[in-house]
Amino acid sequence: MSALVDQFGRTIEYLRISVTDKCNFRCRYCMPLEGLPWLPKADILTYEEIREVVSQLAVMGLKRIRITGGEPTIRPQLATLVRFIRDVPAVEDIALSTNGVKLPELAPELAAAGLDRVNISADSLQAERIVAIARRDLGFEPVAAALAAEKAGLGPIKLNVVVMRGVNDDEVVDFARLTLDHPWHVRFIELMPVGSLEPMTEEMVVPSEEVLSRIQDALGPLTRTAGPARGNGPAAYHQLEGAAGSIGVITPMTHTYCGSCNRVRLTADGRLRTCLFGDHEVDLRGPLRAGMPLAPFVRQALADKPQEHALLTHRVGGLRALSQVGG
Ligand code: SAM
Repeated sequence: MSALVDQFGRTIEYLRISVTDKCNFRCRYCMPLEGLPWLPKADILTYEEIREVVSQLAVMGLKRIRITGGEPTIRPQLATLVRFIRDVPAVEDIALSTNGVKLPELAPELAAAGLDRVNISADSLQAERIVAIARRDLGFEPVAAALAAEKAGLGPIKLNVVVMRGVNDDEVVDFARLTLDHPWHVRFIELMPVGSLEPMTEEMVVPSEEVLSRIQDALGPLTRTAGPARGNGPAAYHQLEGAAGSIGVITPMTHTYCGSCNRVRLTADGRLRTCLFGDHEVDLRGPLRAGMPLAPFVRQALADKPQEHALLTHRVGGLRALSQVGG
């Protein structure tokens, strides 16, 4: 078995698969209210095609999968894809990123199909505010979604909170408090003012140092911890004294962690993206549908994987929204 290594010596073992570009939310920092020009159905990889990509990459060293979107749970029969991927022997870990709306309904069948764990996006614990941020009233209850996932065995549970000044930054302590009693990992993400969404300005970015110091002021000292046993990505983890869970910060706006980047992304229409930001993509759908082996295309993509993302230099504008590239 050969390893997937890029031009800077980083070993790539983690693939994030976007299964749809559509979403049932319209989060103000992610997707315009009217939606986006959706991909034609014929361009979207079938579950069988995704299985083929995963199988070929697994032979090359892929070990961990995250299913994402758009909102992956709105694609019908998602459990079928989970089962397909579970049957690929080299895959050690299958995670799902979801806004959590459908988790109470779907968690048991996804777990039975072989899903290991979930990340739930939750930007507020207040019903009205959830609707104001997501711009859809779907009755989402973050704690209920996390409990449903936990009950189904989809742990360690991670809750991802995008912190926005003047919108939800007054809730960081409430989110942190959840980790006292629940073995959950609450991760605060610095808002990335990408795409052309208004009114997302740099003034709304809350640096993670500020988030951590607000939590310490309210709830006491934090100590650095290793974080959850599985799925450690770019987050740095801390723990409150005696807490069951941990608090993570993800800092795309104030730090880069590209030197340890171990991931690539598959867009819903079958392009391999080697960086969340920028335009480094190689089409896999064409070769796949032509019955060609994917290895040469994958190696070409890795040869072009950038050393660092451009977010710290480009800042606002120009970059595609995360829903389009499988954030
Ligand atoms: N729908 C799924 C979900 O909600 O987790 C998966 C896709 S969503 C694009 C993935 C993550 O990207 C979510 O946690 C979301 O909050 C985050 N995200 C999207 N746009 C962002 C932005 N501009 N800044 C920071 N995080 C963002």
